[in-house]
Formats: sequence, C-alpha cells, structure tokens
Amino acid sequence: MKTAWEDHSWTGLPHLLGTKRTDVCVIGLGGSGLCAIGELLDHGVNVIGIDAASVAGGAAGANGGFLLAGTARFYHHMRASLGGQRARQLYLLTVDEIDRVFAQMPDIARRAGSLRIAMDDDELADCEAQFAVMQQDRLPVEKYSGPEGRGLLIPTDGVFNPLLRCRRLAEQCMQRGAQLFENSEVLEIRSGMVRAQQGMIRCKNILAAVDGKLELLFPALNQRVRTARLQMLSTVPTNEVRIERAVYARWGYEYWQQLADGRVVLGGFRDQAMEQEWTDSTEATEIIQDKLTTFLRDHLKVSAPIEHRWAASVGYTDNGLPIIDEITPNVWVVGGYNGTGNIVGALCGRGVAQRIVGASSEPLR
Ligand SMILES: Cc1cc2nc3c(=O)[nH]c(=O)nc-3n(C[C@H](O)[C@H](O)[C@H](O)COP(=O)(O)OP(=O)(O)OC[C@H]3O[C@@H](n4cnc5c(N)ncnc54)[C@H](O)[C@@H]3O)c2cc1C
Repeated sequence: MKTAWEDHSWTGLPHLLGTKRTDVCVIGLGGSGLCAIGELLDHGVNVIGIDAASVAGGAAGANGGFLLAGTARFYHHMRASLGGQRARQLYLLTVDEIDRVFAQMPDIARRAGSLRIAMDDDELADCEAQFAVMQQDRLPVEKYSGPEGRGLLIPTDGVFNPLLRCRRLAEQCMQRGAQLFENSEVLEIRSGMVRAQQGMIRCKNILAAVDGKLELLFPALNQRVRTARLQMLSTVPTNEVRIERAVYARWGYEYWQQLADGRVVLGGFRDQAMEQEWTDSTEATEIIQDKLTTFLRDHLKVSAPIEHRWAASVGYTDNGLPIIDEITPNVWVVGGYNGTGNIVGALCGRGVAQRIVGASSEPLR
C-alpha cells in the first residue's frame, strides 16, 4: 500500500515456517501488538509475533498520524456514559501515553496540539459544552479561533509518523529477543495453538491485537465489533498553505495535517457512503476520494498534485470503547478503537500484556 508514510526502508521479515514454541503468541504487528510485545519482554516473557501482512501493514502504518488524548468519542460525551471519575482517569492515561511517544521518539513526533473545528452552529455549541466539561474536570483545553475556523485547541495532542514508530518498535522487540514473522496469516486459533499458512505456534497465551477485521478472526465478536474502511489522500510537498496542527472537523469525520516537508494528508467522508464503507475491503473508492479531492481543493485551498490515495480497516464498537477481553481461557483480544487507536491501542496492548503476566494493570475496561 502506498501511503504518505512509506519510505521503502523496510526490508521485510520471514514468514512462519514449521512448529515453534513460546510463552505468548501475539497476532497483529501494528502499534497495539508491538506495545504488547514490548511489555511482555519487560516481564521476561518469550514472545512470538505474527502478522498476515507486514509490520504496521494495517491501519497502524496507514493512518493520519494524530496523537489524540481520550477515547474516540469527545470527552463530554464519554463522561456522560462513563461518569466523571472513570472518564477522567481514562483521559489522563491517554495523555500519559502521548507523553511516552514524545519521550521515546522525539525525532518523529511533534506536540503542536490538535484542533477540533466546528463546521456549523450546532457543532460549535457542542465544542462549548466540551470546553465547559473539560475545564470542570481540570483537563487542558482552550477555545480556538483562527484560520481553520472556530472550535477547541487540545494542547497535549500532537502528530507522529505512525509507520516509522511501528518499524522502530519492531526492531527493538527483535533486538530484545522476540521473534517476528510477516506474511503469515493466522487461519486457526485453539487453546495453546495458533496455526498459520505454513507454520504453527504452540504457546500458553495468545493475544490478538487486531483492530479492523477482528470479527473475521473471531466470529463470536460479530455482534460487538464491526469493520469499517477509512480513506485518505496525500499531496506532494506544497507551500500554498501552512497548517500548524492536526485538525479534525465536522464531528471528527474529516481530519488533516501538513507534514514537515509540506505534504498535506487528509482523510474523511466515511459517513457520505456509510453502508459502502462498512466493509473489510481496503480498496480506495471513487466516491470517497472525489469528496476528499473536492475538500482539499475548495476548503483547504490546496491545488498541489495528489501523490497517494489509500484506505485501511478499523473496528467500531457500539459504546465507543475498545474491546479488551479474555474470550476463552488464555486467549485475549484487543481492538475496536473506533477510528482513533494510535494511543488507545498502545494502552490496551500494554494493559493486556500486564494482565497476561499477572501484573497489575490500568483500569481500561
Ligand atoms: C485512514 C485511517 C486514518 C486513521 N487516523 C488515525 C489517527 O490519526 N489517529 C489515531 O489515533 N488513529 C487513527 N486511525 C486508527 C488507527 O490507525 C488504528 O486504530 C490503529 O492503528 C490500530 O492499530 P492496531 O495495532 O490495533 O491494529 P492494526 O494496525 O489494524 O494491526 C493489526 C494487524 O493485524 C494483522 N492481522 C489481521 N488479521 C490477521 C490474521 N488473521 N492473521 C495474522 N495477522 C492478522 C493485520 O495485518 C495488521 O497488521 C486511522 C485509521 C485509518 C484506517
């Protein structure tokens, strides 16, 4: 998949061949799975990680690069369903996780804040409501009015290169002893056994860290998580605009940022073909890409040529919270981040890894 992030520096990993034994098998080498592997290694556990495609071959390497605090729903909405104490606790965990990304890889992450921009009066009123609740809960937020429009500025947010981060995490995991395999689709999971196309892993614990397509791997989750396609495009470098921060607008459906070299990356419009976008296909489509192009030209005023168009899968849940479950003994799943999984996914992966080793874990449920 050609995305704005691909730099062709990854030489690839072997596929799984024959039978291997380990303590924990992690399925899915996106950000969530790799953070889980790192945590397991911290606890001295032997790990094998396996992916149907490549390291960050799913959404983890094809996303907008936003580092957003909180869960997918806006803070005041989540607070209304979870209660103040738990919503705030979860929010602060995500702020800490963003800090961790900045601290670990400062050269590929930038804390410039993010903007939530209102596209009409109703949305502006919702921004006001969010502002009031976040202030009441002593969470960092500012009112914003500027070239992008009116809304909120979340100063703790930022941006990063999601693909490069995953590749670095994978390299670190391998240096610390984890065995990682690419192009090894898991076809069967049973207690203590993971079977891929040309190999098998025998292990005590299994952790599937798969966001989009989770219900394909575990049909029992069909009622709880649903795969959707999200689409993006990117331009060649341009100085027609200077976009300082990550921006999300129209209730988060559209999102864009400008990379350090001037390229603009833009995603969104899933709701304009909602039925069609409930799919596990990762083909970009004309209808969504046309809307992205029009928005790029007419709203962002960018006429630079478009370099890449792409799509990837994510998982949505009814309550806006991720799935974190031991679905059968010693078989764990994490996923369903509702379109914003860079930070929440890392937390969930690490949290489940802690539970597997019996260490205390943060209250992510
Ligand atoms: C276009 C787009 C833009 C987005 N923008 C943002 C953003 O700006 N900020 C943000 O926080 N989030 C964003 N997201 C969401 C975010 O990318 C995901 O929630 C996050 O990357 C999920 O990471 P993960 O590691 O859990 O899962 P994934 O990245 O989906 O990784 C799961 C891995 O599991 C593998 N896999 C699946 N099935 C099998 C199988 N049967 N056998 C073996 N391996 C398997 C896949 O190949 C994949 O590599 C965006 C998503 C998309 C698609």
